[in-house]
Amino acid sequence: MSHYVGRFAPSPTGHLHAGSLACLLASYLDARAHRGTWIIRVEDIDPPREPAWAAEDQLETIEAFKLHSDRPILRQSTRYDAYQEALDLLIGKGLAYGCACTRKSIEAACAAAGLPQGVYSGTCRHGTGGAPIRAWRFLVDDGVVSFPDRWQGTFKQNVSKEVGDFVIRRADGLWAYQLAVVVDDGFQDVTHVVRGADLIDNTPRQILLQKALGLPTPAYMHIPLVLDKNGNKLSKQTLAPAIDQSRPEEEAAHAWTHLGFKPFTFDTLEEFYSEAVQRWRVRFQISA
Ligand code: GLU
Repeated sequence: MSHYVGRFAPSPTGHLHAGSLACLLASYLDARAHRGTWIIRVEDIDPPREPAWAAEDQLETIEAFKLHSDRPILRQSTRYDAYQEALDLLIGKGLAYGCACTRKSIEAACAAAGLPQGVYSGTCRHGTGGAPIRAWRFLVDDGVVSFPDRWQGTFKQNVSKEVGDFVIRRADGLWAYQLAVVVDDGFQDVTHVVRGADLIDNTPRQILLQKALGLPTPAYMHIPLVLDKNGNKLSKQTLAPAIDQSRPEEEAAHAWTHLGFKPFTFDTLEEFYSEAVQRWRVRFQISA
């Protein structure tokens, strides 16, 4: 088996939808095309956004497609100690600092500094002036982060200008996605990330965190988003239609054409996967 570990890592914020299915299939096919390991990780770090039924519902959907994690499923809600350790390490290296800013004060600082809304101007970089710490931020050096995306080509972002020092532990005490995903991709030895293009502008932040934590950077592939008829991204929270679990073959065929492949006929899911893996290898020049 080649050294390949890929993952499907949904946040349990609702039903899986057509966009999630495209990510599920793409991550699975890429792993099988490489004869690698494919794992499922439940990214349940944001309880206020997670209906109690969602994680099990998502796992049932994956089951309906007859896809099984090659390793026990990791739930991020069991990993808080590891995130704390990572935060402590960053603080120890002087790469993370406590921030007392509120949403309002950040908006005001952006306006005053002429920065686009949402970019953090670095107000608390040198201390909070005695104000209580609310969140923890990662200190971003100036410079462009660039990486080769296997689908989208080279992607570049100046994180310091476009995002600023970003939150790794939120003011509500919850762990930020950026930190959790980097710690767990490292912990699970993930070598290849295949996920939706909506996350591509998060990747430079994750690469900076990997470097700071001494973790390797995986290969990335960000697949095109599935849009609704108004051209909006499907979202679990905005109640995009759930996948029809009773017709996985049709749903899989649909996701396949969304990924830009020509349709082919098949009877069973097994047949579908076996042919799809061959075609995936050809398209992405993966030697079998
Ligand atoms: N949990 C994220 C989501 O459901 C995906 C994280 C990732 O693939 O890096 O959107």
